Amino acid sequence: MQFIDSHAHLDMQPLVNSLPDVMYRAAANQVGQVMTIGVDLPSSLNALRIASDWPQVFCAVGIHPHDASQISSFEWLEDQLNLIRLQDVLCKIKAIGETGLDFAKEYSPREAQFHAFRWHLELALKWSLPVVVHDRDAHEQTLDVLAEYAGKGLTGVLHCFSGDTDTARRVLDMGFYLSVSGVVTFAKADVLREAVRFAPIDRLLIETDCPFLAPVPYRGKTNEPGYVKYVAEEIARLKCLTLEEVASCTTQNAQALFALPSL
Ligand SMILES: [Zn+2]
Ligand SMILES: [Zn+2]
Repeated sequence: MQFIDSHAHLDMQPLVNSLPDVMYRAAANQVGQVMTIGVDLPSSLNALRIASDWPQVFCAVGIHPHDASQISSFEWLEDQLNLIRLQDVLCKIKAIGETGLDFAKEYSPREAQFHAFRWHLELALKWSLPVVVHDRDAHEQTLDVLAEYAGKGLTGVLHCFSGDTDTARRVLDMGFYLSVSGVVTFAKADVLREAVRFAPIDRLLIETDCPFLAPVPYRGKTNEPGYVKYVAEEIARLKCLTLEEVASCTTQNAQALFALPSL
């Protein structure tokens, strides 16, 4: 039985300071592969460096909606990410992201977030890569933008999915995956749990979003890839599946989406 943590930030503190320990505990907890996700240019480069150092780590490159106002044009984004891609001799970049819309914090103006999101999606299409989408308090707008591109062959995942069953249905209808984080173990997450019950297991990924969002029983502590099994356990409980079935399906899904090598 092997899990894939489909969304981690291994370049962030405090994980980056003790990566050998973090990766050792991940392996001890049957985490076979990890996708580490860039949130800005330095972080995307660091994500690639970590992925290059660790055979079981792959990465996504992009600029988080929080920093959307850094991006002046599609050409600027492509040039900057291309500089990182030129260093990817081991072909470890498996996705574009994270990108999307965050209206909860709104660190960048909404207008800038919409532009940045669309430019990332265009680049994902151009480079034939899936996209890792961040959607916080912006379900309608995120899905409206994705719908423009889904018809053109874009694939991807809504990471740390936080919508209800209707939102999940729209995401699935567009051919996108849903990624479930430790939030599904939180007491107040009944709406999310209902959506997870609704979504077919062959469309779900699991993630930690570490170092954030540690699942129960580690809520409030530093999260790490080794804790992704608590997400899988909750999905197994909700969908009346065995942990082995959840591990095998979510692993297959992540490998199919990100074109990861088999374990
Ligand atoms: Zn995110
Ligand atoms: Zn993230």
